[in-house]
Amino acid sequence: MSIITIKGLTKTMMQSRTRSEQAFARACQLLPGGVNSPARAFGAVGGKPLFMDRGEGPYLFDIDGNRYIDYIGSWGPMILGHADPRVIEAIHQAAVRGTSFGAPTEAESELAELIIAAVPSIQRVRLVNSGTEATMSAIRLARGATGRAKIVKFSGNYHGHVDSLLVSAGSAAATLGVPDSPGVTEGTSRDTLVLEFNDAQALREAFDQFGNQIAGVILEPIVGNMGCVPPKNEFLQLVRALCTRYGTVLIFDDVMTGFRVDYGGAQALYGIQPDLTTLGKIVGGGLPLGAYGGRADLMDQVLPAGKVFQAGTLSGNPLATAAGATTLRILRDEAPYAFLEQQGQRLANGLASAAAENGIAHRVQRIGSMMTLFFCNQDVFGWREANTCDRALFAKYFWGLIERGVYMPCSQFEALFFSSCHSVELIDQTIDAARQVLREICS
Ligand SMILES: *Cc1c(COP(=O)(O)O)cnc(C)c1O
Repeated sequence: MSIITIKGLTKTMMQSRTRSEQAFARACQLLPGGVNSPARAFGAVGGKPLFMDRGEGPYLFDIDGNRYIDYIGSWGPMILGHADPRVIEAIHQAAVRGTSFGAPTEAESELAELIIAAVPSIQRVRLVNSGTEATMSAIRLARGATGRAKIVKFSGNYHGHVDSLLVSAGSAAATLGVPDSPGVTEGTSRDTLVLEFNDAQALREAFDQFGNQIAGVILEPIVGNMGCVPPKNEFLQLVRALCTRYGTVLIFDDVMTGFRVDYGGAQALYGIQPDLTTLGKIVGGGLPLGAYGGRADLMDQVLPAGKVFQAGTLSGNPLATAAGATTLRILRDEAPYAFLEQQGQRLANGLASAAAENGIAHRVQRIGSMMTLFFCNQDVFGWREANTCDRALFAKYFWGLIERGVYMPCSQFEALFFSSCHSVELIDQTIDAARQVLREICS
């Protein structure tokens, strides 16, 4: 058995996984595939998922008592780390006053004010319960407002499990090899045009041919769902210009990148304003909450101000708005983004040299605290290149890190995230662990 040193203590690596295995066997009798969301099932790396007991700051603890440095952060939301005492206290305060009313609360306006102040293009916002709901509603609004049917999306971009967007939808779908889901009818996806991300030529051709029929273009302004793929600046500018020229609604799906890459999201980083923005993940502070917002004249077409239907029994839920608003206030006041950038650089450099030292073809792509170590020998601009990665190598890398107490995303096509609690020491431990794992794989 190998030995790993954490904080000066010598600890045997990876005790048992017995309890997780038992929990998974039980869950498989009850839930399809034993999970409530496929990304949790370790399908891309083989083996069985680890069941979690609790999280604390940068750490996850599984039910067998193993501790991991967490690099998924609940797939994005936990930018402050797990169980931040200020967020927990806000949730508690809200909970004792009642968990849902089906009537308006001031907390909804407080969160809305924070969102509108943060995100440059948002003048009005509607709160929903998930990222999927946000994108689904934004698409409906784009169609309702333009009276057009077609939607452009980009391959490898994931926008939640919205029927019309479940075409070439990145990580989960790509990993499972089902780019089109059964149950999505031809009629539903017929109006979805799928283009290659960062491909200006393809975009121009699509607008030349269909421009006046395109209701909306939806994209992850920085893609996280085929691994981290930043946009070419001229590509974003072209998308904006074509949407303006053709009266098409430009939707930035900032569910992953909102409050992550910058307090104002990707649009603040690149200085490009979409017409609509979808939010999720961080905006709910770890509770189920999403949002879509944008220009007032567009948003005012949503019921009851306008005619585009959209509703939700639990929308603007008091617990979720408390967690979200507290998280946003902390991010606004403490602005951890320069620190996250520094730590990101350190981790990216470390992972790149760990791969290089072992002669492994790789690219590290990163914006702030989201990044991917791609096992491939070319820059990744879109799904075409992402698809050339060495998935088998990734699986070994993933399990090697688990053995050493580092919990990375369980797919080559997911970005890793870290939090403002991930110290220099933890980043360096992670790099050491990656170096050991890659050396072992290559020897
Ligand atoms: C996670 C994600 C979604 C879906 O959000 P859910 O809350 O899982 O429904 C949509 N778009 C992007 C870019 C995402 O990363």
